[in-house]
Amino acid sequence: MHIGVVLLLWLLPLRPDVQQAALTGLSDKTGIVSLQDLTDDLRGRLEIKERVHVTLVDHNPLVMSVETLNGRSGPFVISVDRDFVQELAPAEVEAAIAHELGHVWIYTHHPFLQTERLANDIAMRVVNRSAFEPVYEKVWSRTGIRGNLIEFLGPPSQD
Ligand SMILES: [Zn+2]
Repeated sequence: MHIGVVLLLWLLPLRPDVQQAALTGLSDKTGIVSLQDLTDDLRGRLEIKERVHVTLVDHNPLVMSVETLNGRSGPFVISVDRDFVQELAPAEVEAAIAHELGHVWIYTHHPFLQTERLANDIAMRVVNRSAFEPVYEKVWSRTGIRGNLIEFLGPPSQD
């Protein structure tokens, strides 16, 4: 759930302990088996074929971001700030991951249309809009940079 889009063409190899953390962390807090399982589930629901890894990091100035290791074919890596994700309720974790997968979807389908709004439009195919609002509040309180919910999410729908 980052302010700017980060899609680099390369990334330093992930440290094994970081990868391991992503597979074992959070189960108590979120009630999910792991962030990776959640990511895999959302990826399937969004019909993204490329592999997407998720990793917890000690500090991500963007709180969450996604990068590709090898252009449009991926695999992609979602980096999640460890402290930030601990602040999120399970539905909010799902929304945040879905948002990053929204960027992946755009990148693999319409790379020149990359925006925060469109990433959320994609994410809202599988996660209810209401889950995104508290995520943004928490992102903004952490980064100190406020944005506009309507701009990022569109107007609340009637349903
Ligand atoms: Zn984003």
